[in-house]
Amino acid sequence: MAADPGKNNGQMHDHISLKHKMIMGGIAAVVIPFIIAAGIIYVQLSGFQMKAARENAIHFSADVAQRIEAFLTQETRLISSIAADPDIIHASKTGDYTIAARELADIFDSIGWNGTTMFLTDRNGIIKVDPLFAGQVGLDLSDREYFIKAKNGQINISVPLHARGTSDYEIVMVLCTPIREGREFLGVAAMVFSTDFLVDTITRMTVGNSGYAFLLNKEGLILIHPETELILKQNILGLPANREIKRLMENKEPGIAAYVHEGQKKIAGVSPVKLTDWTVVYTQSLDEIMAPVNRLLLSIFISGIVFLVITVLTIYIFFSRLSTPIQKMMEMAAQVSRHATEALVQIGPDRKIIFANPAFEKITGIALKDVIGAQPLFENSGGLPRESIWQALESGNPWSGHLEFKAEGQKTVAILDVMIVPLKDDRGRIQGYLEIGRDVTDELMFEKRLSQAQKLEAIGTLAGGIAHDFNNILSIIFGYTELSLLHPDLDPKLKDHLRQIATASERARSLVTQILSFSRQSKMELVPFMLKTVVKEALTLLRASTPAFIRIDTRLDSSSAVMGDPTRIHQVVMNLFTNAVHAIGENPGTIALALEDFMVDQEFTRTHPGIKEGKHIILRISDTGCGMPPETVDHIFEPFFTTKAQGKGTGLGLSVVHGIIKKMNGIITVYSRAGKGTVFNVILPCIAEDGPGIKEIRSPIRRGTERIALVDDEADIVAAMQSILENLGYRVTAFIDSVAALSAIESGPDEFDLIITDYTMPGITGLELAGKLDRAGIRIPILLMSGFFGEKVKTAAHDAGIDHLLYKPVNTYQLSAAVCRALGDGDGA
Ligand code: ADP
Ligand code: MG
Repeated sequence: MAADPGKNNGQMHDHISLKHKMIMGGIAAVVIPFIIAAGIIYVQLSGFQMKAARENAIHFSADVAQRIEAFLTQETRLISSIAADPDIIHASKTGDYTIAARELADIFDSIGWNGTTMFLTDRNGIIKVDPLFAGQVGLDLSDREYFIKAKNGQINISVPLHARGTSDYEIVMVLCTPIREGREFLGVAAMVFSTDFLVDTITRMTVGNSGYAFLLNKEGLILIHPETELILKQNILGLPANREIKRLMENKEPGIAAYVHEGQKKIAGVSPVKLTDWTVVYTQSLDEIMAPVNRLLLSIFISGIVFLVITVLTIYIFFSRLSTPIQKMMEMAAQVSRHATEALVQIGPDRKIIFANPAFEKITGIALKDVIGAQPLFENSGGLPRESIWQALESGNPWSGHLEFKAEGQKTVAILDVMIVPLKDDRGRIQGYLEIGRDVTDELMFEKRLSQAQKLEAIGTLAGGIAHDFNNILSIIFGYTELSLLHPDLDPKLKDHLRQIATASERARSLVTQILSFSRQSKMELVPFMLKTVVKEALTLLRASTPAFIRIDTRLDSSSAVMGDPTRIHQVVMNLFTNAVHAIGENPGTIALALEDFMVDQEFTRTHPGIKEGKHIILRISDTGCGMPPETVDHIFEPFFTTKAQGKGTGLGLSVVHGIIKKMNGIITVYSRAGKGTVFNVILPCIAEDGPGIKEIRSPIRRGTERIALVDDEADIVAAMQSILENLGYRVTAFIDSVAALSAIESGPDEFDLIITDYTMPGITGLELAGKLDRAGIRIPILLMSGFFGEKVKTAAHDAGIDHLLYKPVNTYQLSAAVCRALGDGDGA
């Protein structure tokens, strides 16, 4: 996917890990329910608590009010009965209080002293009787409010007041009732009681730290309070915060009031005390009321935190166990895409590439950063418009076909067999596309080469058939022409014509030979030889005939041997070189010849039909000449294909080369571009026996038909050597017993041209055999073989007339060369 450049905004990684997401989810799962629960509990509980507190406040204040009422009622009854006592009335009327004083003392005695005293006054408010404090008698109380009220007929209770005549300013209250006869006011009977009882009652009502009761009079003055220093000192109704209490007091009804005292929110239960204008207030701080709710809330909060810690820890621990397989799977998926040999490309629904694997980059040569974020180009050789591919994909159908990819600045195009599938979600909506591409560049090239090879084969068969018949016809033409030329009375003009025919048919015959060699119908003798030698030989010839402005570079790095016909290889080099010279033409240029070893692997065989795996040698001939356009390259191996002027080229050169190489199980490849030069690679299989011996051979193996006696006690060696020698054309008589060999040679010395014998043998040694034959006067050249020749043996051999030694093990080349030398054929090999 060569891509629209400059669009690298594709991001494929999500940076928040699964683990963090899970932990965050876990926190939310704990925190949210806790907050909701805490909220509900708080609202419910605080409502409940407030209600209970209000009820309590009313209840407590009413309770206190009731106790005070009960106390007062009892005391009122007592004092009223005293005031109604006839003796008391009589005393008040008469002014003689003697009996009344006794009676009062009796009553006082019977109820006992508990901070209470009683007294009687006359109508003018002068104390007449006081059973406890006799000193009080005569005291004038006419100005006292309670006296005045009683005088007006009202039973009343005074506000707390300091007892007159007492030194310690004890606070007391006075319950005062008029003594009357009919409508006539005779004085008052009063009961003085200390406020201790009320203080007791009220202070007993303290609850917790902040709940307490107090008593107010009508004006709001504190009458009784747990903090005694406030008594008669503070009027609470003056404070604006206490408006609600004031309202309730004015209405004389029980109720609840909220107020703020010294910055503290409080609620108060307010209850009026019947018989008086007093009001009992029970108050408690809101904070204290709410304390249990707040404590509960705190414990919910703490247990929430504990839960949270447990949850996070659990997720953390479990995730480590859980994450391993998930992470492994994700890693595996990543590895699969990373190591896949197929190109994998993920395209988003917006037609932009989200991801491409390394194989994509490897196959196409296009950098991943250049494709990610870009739109795929969908380049194809069929000229199919990009939009039609998108149409298929976006309608939900997969698309498959060949797409071409070309990296920027690169010449080669990679062809991929791709399959693009739309990825759908469970509702069938397209979420993106997955493109899977297999590199078929080589495969397509292979197919092309194969079809070309098959075409050449067909042409070869055809041309071969024609050439064969044509050759026969030519022989007839040539034969009769020669015959005719031999005619004695030939007209000179006719003779000249016949000569022309003979020359022309000679030329035709050489052409036919070429066609036959191209079609591989001509016979080729396959022998092992070192390619380097032949190339060097050819080069000597070529150097002489190549114009000076053409430079020739040689780099012959391989000494491997091949199986073939050296003459034909010579022809190959000449043809390829000549073509290169032609391609360079009149301008200066370079032709390079190289030989190097080359290992053909399975991969190579897949793209190059006609070659097998194994060790090969490459003969490379490259030139800086005119080169060829691809259209020309497609045809160069066809016979009679030439781009050269009539008479200059036959178009047979490369077809002949192709035929020869094919016959040697090799292949020829060509790389060329118009104006840029050409490279021909001839790739030939090396033969296995390319041991050190091969290097010693400087030219192809010599053959012969001489008769050889082969003597060795080891049957295997005898058999192997015999077959090599016979393959080289020699006639071999083999002996595995040296004594038998001796007698056979002695009885028919003319039957043999050469004796090849092993040195160490049971019976007689090779050397002894030579000595015996020498003494018998039999002069046949002897080739002595051994794994090792010591100096002694060497001298002995020389003395026995043996000049030729052969080291074991021997191979074909060494054997052939040694035999030639022993037979005295030129320089041997
Ligand atoms: P001929 O040389 O007679 O034309 P060949 O079979 O040798 O026939 O070559 C066939 C054609 O291949 C040539 O005509 C030429 O166009 C082309 N050709 C061969 N070798 C080269 C080369 N080294 N450089 C350029 N073109 C070449
Ligand atoms: Mg040629």
